[in-house]
Amino acid sequence: MADCIFCKIVSKEIPSKPAYEDDRIYCFHDLEPQAPVHVLIVPKKHIASTDDLEPEDQDLMGYMVMKIKDIAAGLGLENGYRVVMNCGEDGLQTVPHLHMHLLGKRKLTWPPG
Ligand code: 5GP
Ligand code: ZN
Repeated sequence: MADCIFCKIVSKEIPSKPAYEDDRIYCFHDLEPQAPVHVLIVPKKHIASTDDLEPEDQDLMGYMVMKIKDIAAGLGLENGYRVVMNCGEDGLQTVPHLHMHLLGKRKLTWPPG
């Protein structure tokens, strides 16, 4: 999608620090990390948010979720981690390209703000 910042990151038009990549997803370090490890996992296909998922995206979403443990292991998150997906205004989603935050390497608090 032309004006989407994460599509531009996926296409390398905007530089990012990679953590994992394959033909379906890209994982890169967040610009403003909220934990010692904070990466974003995005589908290469532009999907605005979880609210915009279609039945055809089911396999891709399952694929993303199944990849979390490998990406986490690659980042040394053997003591646990948190996965967050913000959606919409109340969810405080700031970039309208679906993404999972993967945070770790510190004891995270609960509940989130
Ligand atoms: P959201 O608030 O939509 O759930 O999360 C968007 C995340 O993207 C934020 O944590 C923000 O720091 C990160 N972010 C926004 N712009 C960029 C960018 O240009 N590069 C990288 N690496 N992260 C970004
Ligand atoms: Zn996009």
